[in-house]
Amino acid sequence: MPPPSGGEPGCIFCAIVHQREPAHVVYEDDEAIAFLDLYPHTRGHLLVVPRRHVDRLTDLPEAEYAEFLRAISNVCRRVDRLSRHYHVSVNQGTLAGQVVFHLHVHIIPRYSEENPFAVHPRVRLDDTEGRALVSLLGAP
Ligand code: AMP
Ligand code: ZN
Repeated sequence: MPPPSGGEPGCIFCAIVHQREPAHVVYEDDEAIAFLDLYPHTRGHLLVVPRRHVDRLTDLPEAEYAEFLRAISNVCRRVDRLSRHYHVSVNQGTLAGQVVFHLHVHIIPRYSEENPFAVHPRVRLDDTEGRALVSLLGAP
Protein backbone atom coordinates (compact mmCIF):
# COMPACT_ATOMS: atom_id res chain seq x y z
CA MET A 1 0.00 0.00 0.00
CA PRO A 2 1.20 3.57 -0.60
CA PRO A 3 2.60 5.37 2.45
CA PRO A 4 0.11 7.73 4.16
CA SER A 5 1.70 10.88 2.74
CA GLY A 6 0.96 11.64 -0.88
CA GLY A 7 4.62 11.51 -1.82
CA GLU A 8 6.77 14.38 -3.02
CA PRO A 9 4.79 17.37 -4.35
CA GLY A 10 5.25 17.80 -8.09
CA CYS A 11 6.74 14.33 -8.61
CA ILE A 12 5.07 12.53 -11.49
CA PHE A 13 6.06 9.06 -10.23
CA CYS A 14 4.70 9.80 -6.73
CA ALA A 15 1.48 10.88 -8.47
CA ILE A 16 1.40 7.48 -10.25
CA VAL A 17 2.23 5.61 -7.01
CA HIS A 18 -0.63 7.41 -5.26
CA GLN A 19 -2.97 6.96 -8.24
CA ARG A 20 -3.40 10.64 -8.96
CA GLU A 21 -2.02 10.07 -12.47
CA PRO A 22 -2.77 7.12 -14.73
CA ALA A 23 -0.23 4.52 -15.77
CA HIS A 24 -0.20 1.11 -17.38
CA VAL A 25 0.80 -0.85 -14.30
CA VAL A 26 2.15 -4.37 -14.81
CA TYR A 27 3.41 -5.17 -11.31
CA GLU A 28 2.85 -3.96 -7.75
CA ASP A 29 3.98 -5.00 -4.32
CA ASP A 30 4.16 -3.24 -0.95
CA GLU A 31 7.32 -1.33 -1.83
CA ALA A 32 7.51 -1.05 -5.61
CA ILE A 33 5.44 -0.59 -8.73
CA ALA A 34 6.25 -1.17 -12.41
CA PHE A 35 4.53 0.52 -15.32
CA LEU A 36 5.02 1.12 -19.03
CA ASP A 37 7.18 4.08 -20.01
CA LEU A 38 5.02 6.71 -21.71
CA TYR A 39 7.69 7.35 -24.38
CA PRO A 40 9.09 3.86 -24.92
CA HIS A 41 12.44 3.23 -26.60
CA THR A 42 11.04 -0.15 -27.64
CA ARG A 43 7.82 -2.10 -27.20
CA GLY A 44 7.35 -3.08 -23.56
CA HIS A 45 9.79 -0.51 -22.11
CA LEU A 46 9.05 -0.56 -18.38
CA LEU A 47 9.99 1.45 -15.32
CA VAL A 48 10.35 -0.17 -11.89
CA VAL A 49 9.86 2.44 -9.18
CA PRO A 50 10.06 2.24 -5.39
CA ARG A 51 6.94 3.63 -3.74
CA ARG A 52 9.20 5.66 -1.46
CA HIS A 53 10.33 8.91 -3.07
CA VAL A 54 14.11 9.01 -3.34
CA ASP A 55 15.98 10.93 -6.03
CA ARG A 56 18.76 8.46 -6.63
CA LEU A 57 19.68 4.79 -6.20
CA THR A 58 22.18 5.77 -3.52
CA ASP A 59 19.38 7.43 -1.49
CA LEU A 60 17.40 4.20 -1.12
CA PRO A 61 17.80 2.80 2.43
CA GLU A 62 19.93 -0.35 2.39
CA ALA A 63 17.21 -2.28 4.20
CA GLU A 64 15.08 -1.87 1.06
CA TYR A 65 17.66 -3.05 -1.50
CA ALA A 66 16.63 -6.70 -1.41
CA GLU A 67 12.93 -6.04 -1.85
CA PHE A 68 13.59 -3.62 -4.69
CA LEU A 69 15.87 -6.09 -6.46
CA ARG A 70 13.22 -8.77 -6.00
CA ALA A 71 10.69 -6.52 -7.72
CA ILE A 72 13.12 -5.80 -10.58
CA SER A 73 13.76 -9.53 -11.01
CA ASN A 74 10.08 -10.31 -10.99
CA VAL A 75 9.44 -7.73 -13.71
CA CYS A 76 12.41 -9.02 -15.76
CA ARG A 77 10.83 -12.50 -15.75
CA ARG A 78 7.67 -10.97 -17.16
CA VAL A 79 9.65 -9.13 -19.85
CA ASP A 80 11.04 -12.54 -20.90
CA ARG A 81 7.56 -13.04 -22.38
CA LEU A 82 8.38 -10.32 -24.92
CA SER A 83 12.11 -10.87 -25.39
CA ARG A 84 14.93 -12.57 -23.51
CA HIS A 85 17.13 -9.59 -24.45
CA TYR A 86 16.77 -6.35 -22.56
CA HIS A 87 18.63 -3.54 -20.84
CA VAL A 88 18.24 -3.00 -17.10
CA SER A 89 19.49 0.50 -16.42
CA VAL A 90 19.37 3.55 -14.21
CA ASN A 91 20.05 7.09 -15.41
CA GLN A 92 21.48 8.91 -12.43
CA GLY A 93 21.97 12.69 -12.73
CA THR A 94 21.04 15.09 -15.50
CA LEU A 95 24.19 14.45 -17.55
CA ALA A 96 23.22 10.77 -17.62
CA GLY A 97 19.79 11.67 -18.93
CA GLN A 98 17.83 11.55 -15.68
CA VAL A 99 14.77 13.75 -16.07
CA VAL A 100 12.49 12.29 -13.40
CA PHE A 101 14.06 12.61 -9.95
CA HIS A 102 12.29 9.68 -8.37
CA LEU A 103 14.46 6.57 -8.60
CA HIS A 104 13.43 4.26 -11.43
CA VAL A 105 14.99 1.31 -13.19
CA HIS A 106 14.42 1.06 -16.93
CA ILE A 107 13.83 -2.36 -18.44
CA ILE A 108 14.11 -1.95 -22.19
CA PRO A 109 13.46 -5.02 -24.35
CA ARG A 110 15.59 -5.53 -27.46
CA TYR A 111 14.23 -7.22 -30.55
CA SER A 112 17.06 -6.71 -33.03
CA GLU A 113 20.74 -5.84 -33.34
CA GLU A 114 19.89 -2.20 -33.89
CA ASN A 115 21.10 -0.31 -30.83
CA PRO A 116 18.88 2.63 -29.93
CA PHE A 117 21.57 4.00 -27.59
CA ALA A 118 24.65 3.99 -29.87
CA VAL A 119 25.62 7.64 -30.21
CA HIS A 120 29.37 7.53 -30.90
CA PRO A 121 32.05 4.96 -31.66
CA ARG A 122 33.78 3.36 -28.64
CA VAL A 123 37.53 3.44 -28.17
CA ARG A 124 39.51 0.69 -26.38
CA LEU A 125 40.31 1.51 -22.74
CA ASP A 126 43.84 2.90 -22.35
CA ASP A 127 45.90 0.96 -19.71
CA THR A 128 47.13 4.11 -17.92
CA GLU A 129 43.61 5.42 -17.72
CA GLY A 130 42.48 1.97 -16.52
CA ARG A 131 45.04 1.94 -13.69
CA ALA A 132 44.10 5.47 -12.62
CA LEU A 133 40.44 4.55 -12.51
CA VAL A 134 41.11 1.35 -10.55
CA SER A 135 43.00 3.35 -7.91
CA LEU A 136 40.18 5.89 -7.76
CA LEU A 137 37.25 3.48 -7.75
CA GLY A 138 38.83 0.39 -6.18
CA ALA A 139 39.31 2.11 -2.80
CA PRO A 140 36.54 1.41 -0.30
P1 AMP B 1 14.95 9.16 -17.00
O1 AMP B 1 15.40 9.86 -18.23
O2 AMP B 1 15.83 8.01 -16.61
O3 AMP B 1 14.68 10.12 -15.84
O4 AMP B 1 13.58 8.47 -17.40
C1 AMP B 1 12.33 9.00 -17.15
C2 AMP B 1 11.37 8.21 -17.97
O5 AMP B 1 10.07 8.45 -17.49
C3 AMP B 1 11.38 8.57 -19.45
O6 AMP B 1 11.73 7.41 -20.21
C4 AMP B 1 9.95 9.05 -19.71
O7 AMP B 1 9.48 8.63 -20.97
C5 AMP B 1 9.19 8.39 -18.58
N1 AMP B 1 7.98 9.08 -18.16
C6 AMP B 1 7.83 10.40 -17.88
N2 AMP B 1 6.56 10.64 -17.48
C7 AMP B 1 5.92 9.46 -17.48
C8 AMP B 1 4.60 9.04 -17.16
N3 AMP B 1 3.66 9.92 -16.76
N4 AMP B 1 4.28 7.73 -17.29
C9 AMP B 1 5.20 6.85 -17.70
N5 AMP B 1 6.47 7.17 -18.02
C10 AMP B 1 6.82 8.46 -17.91
ZN1 ZN C 1 8.39 10.78 -6.24
